[in-house]
Amino acid sequence: MKKLGFGLMRLPLMDADDPKKIDREAVCRMVDLFMEQGFGYFDTAYPYHEGLSETVFQEAVAKRYPRNAYTITDKLPLYLLRKEEEMEQIFQQQLNRLGLDFIDYYWLHNVGTASYAVAQRLGAFEFVRKKKEQGKVGHIGFSFHDRADLLDRVLMEHPEMEFVQLQLNYLDWEDTNVQARLCYEAAIRHGKQVMVMEPVKGGTLASLPPQAKELLEQYRPGLSPAGWALLFAASRKEVAMVLSGMSDRQQMEENLLVMENQPPLTAREEQTLLQVAEILREKIAIPCTACRYCVAGCPKHIAIPDYFSLYNSLRRFGPEQWGNVSAYYNNLTQTHGGASDCVGCGACEAHCPQHLPIREHLHQVAVALERDEN
Ligand code: SF4
Ligand code: SF4
Repeated sequence: MKKLGFGLMRLPLMDADDPKKIDREAVCRMVDLFMEQGFGYFDTAYPYHEGLSETVFQEAVAKRYPRNAYTITDKLPLYLLRKEEEMEQIFQQQLNRLGLDFIDYYWLHNVGTASYAVAQRLGAFEFVRKKKEQGKVGHIGFSFHDRADLLDRVLMEHPEMEFVQLQLNYLDWEDTNVQARLCYEAAIRHGKQVMVMEPVKGGTLASLPPQAKELLEQYRPGLSPAGWALLFAASRKEVAMVLSGMSDRQQMEENLLVMENQPPLTAREEQTLLQVAEILREKIAIPCTACRYCVAGCPKHIAIPDYFSLYNSLRRFGPEQWGNVSAYYNNLTQTHGGASDCVGCGACEAHCPQHLPIREHLHQVAVALERDEN
């Protein structure tokens, strides 16, 4: 299955606290490995790495490989749009950043209840359709983070959309908020192919508790948890591509091996993964995918996803990890607002594709991690 796409949103960093300090040489080496193995699908977006993902794509791919050797997708950031003319400005900026005059797949980024209204009001669907007519983009579609009934409506009202990019993984498959299965089924009903994002749920599915691992070992001994997660998405016929936001060479090597060598899941294996999801649900306190969409607008510069990740570790591994986790927390608060600095403005929640009650969760983090050691 050559369905692996390189998501350029969690690139290797020189400084783990600064998403703009991308390790460009490491990216080039990963790109070379990816291309050598016969893969060539890259996915970027305007806000990734605070605007630098598109530029790094130009350096690592566009300037180093012939145009017909790769496929690139990019996205129109609906959340930024205030006026119609901004769409053309942003599109031109994206072409400049990518160093290209043609984008293979162009999506409306993160369609949901609020952004759908914006897209309708400003004519964003019409904008991408015209770009396709003008030969500036090859295919059009949208990424989606909302409920299945809205997806059904969008696809009914915009049959011209060719693809849907969905969050699809075994933990979200039956999740009542994400509704991955229902969204997938809606896309199929409308005859659309699906691009998958977050197959490993921002890394959440890359490590499993022992009882979950044991369940899986009996089927494919040695297959990594991330490998199982990729297969859950890639095994579906209507899934055209599975994106993975790979951050280092080792992750990429593992993913490539899975996609080259593993056959699709059997029905029994899929059922077992859904059992694993039940086990995990009891242990994951905050289902954040670390997409970082919430961070840019925070007036207190709070490291929201980093705090959620620490809190999840604490919940998962128990109170004996408190010292270790709180040391990381204290380091982060040297350069960011702490969880209790939240002023409750709600700006972050408007951008969260997982619809998390971020303020409430920050309060939990503050209670757990801002106490004195005892
Ligand atoms: S609600 Fe809190 S965390 Fe969210 S943007 Fe406002 S200050 Fe930042
Ligand atoms: S809180 Fe929401 S927006 Fe922020 S990183 Fe997590 S999933 Fe993304």
